Amino acid sequence: YKAKKQGINMALFSHEMTQHATEMVDLHNKLKSAISQGMIQPHYQPLIDLSSNEIVGVEVLARWITEDGSIGPSPAVFIPLSEDSGLIWALSETMIAQAAKAIQGWLEQGVKIRFSVNVSAKQFAEDEFCAQMMEQFRRLSVTPQSVQIELTESVLIQNTEKSLEKIQMLKSAGFKIALDDFGTGYSSLQYLTQFPFDTLKVDRAFVTDIFHDERKFSVAKSIINLAHDLKLTVVAEGIETEEQRRVLVELGCDIGQGFLFSEPMAQDQLSEQLKVVNSKKA
Ligand code: C2E
Ligand code: MG
Ligand code: MG
Ligand code: MG
Repeated sequence: YKAKKQGINMALFSHEMTQHATEMVDLHNKLKSAISQGMIQPHYQPLIDLSSNEIVGVEVLARWITEDGSIGPSPAVFIPLSEDSGLIWALSETMIAQAAKAIQGWLEQGVKIRFSVNVSAKQFAEDEFCAQMMEQFRRLSVTPQSVQIELTESVLIQNTEKSLEKIQMLKSAGFKIALDDFGTGYSSLQYLTQFPFDTLKVDRAFVTDIFHDERKFSVAKSIINLAHDLKLTVVAEGIETEEQRRVLVELGCDIGQGFLFSEPMAQDQLSEQLKVVNSKKA
């Protein structure tokens, strides 16, 4: 009876696995054609100076635009898929090409903000990565000084020495470097002393409950103080409420990002916002 039961479970299990595998292959093929048809496009989410309430930067985020113009599967799904299937190269190339072009346009209009670009561990691990990055931005006359590269800890655990070399190379080219999603993953404090980051992004997991959960509040407070002692700029991710914003201002957090200020938006929408910002400054 036991064997029979297991047999049935095994059959169900493998059926589910096959179905899952088939779905992933299907999604892979769709992603592949979406990339080649230019349907993976950058959207842009403002980063706000928490003391002046001004836009000081923008994070570039990949969006899958479907045939009817709506937004398709989330990058939390298609970025890992593209990493596993090798599509990350083509994806990252089209993302940076489109973003660099948009950034060049904004810089020409006199917009003085920094653009943050996400880089996955797989890309970063490639020997050619730094050279490619510099070449792409150089070709479109975007100065690295206007660009911040967001890395997660997964990048750093793989090959510490090489990673350090690459980060130093990018920094001497003028790029700024941010440690993304801090507080999740390994969060080794060692990384903060080993690598010359400019910015630390506190993960949304701490921001969400910062007003209601005393422990999260304490951890966020400590991270912010530690980062400041190390002369890093601190960004809080995923600010959705006024209470969260207020607590973060009280803790001295430098920059905020989240739906409270703005969702990620298409190029034209951001252009409109930046025009308003520029005309206010003029
Ligand atoms: P991330 O780099 O940590 O980006 C921040 C994520 O938080 C974005 O999710 C953004 O839309 C979301 N977010 C911002 N404010 C709020 C908020 O107030 N509430 C909530 N609930 N979420 C908020 P998104 O765009 O879905 O991207 C997910 C992740 O996918 C990113 O996390 C990043 O790791 C990766 N990713 C996105 N675009 C790219 C890309 O072009 N290249 C690479 N390598 N990774 C990317
Ligand atoms: Mg990021
Ligand atoms: Mg992040
Ligand atoms: Mg995050």
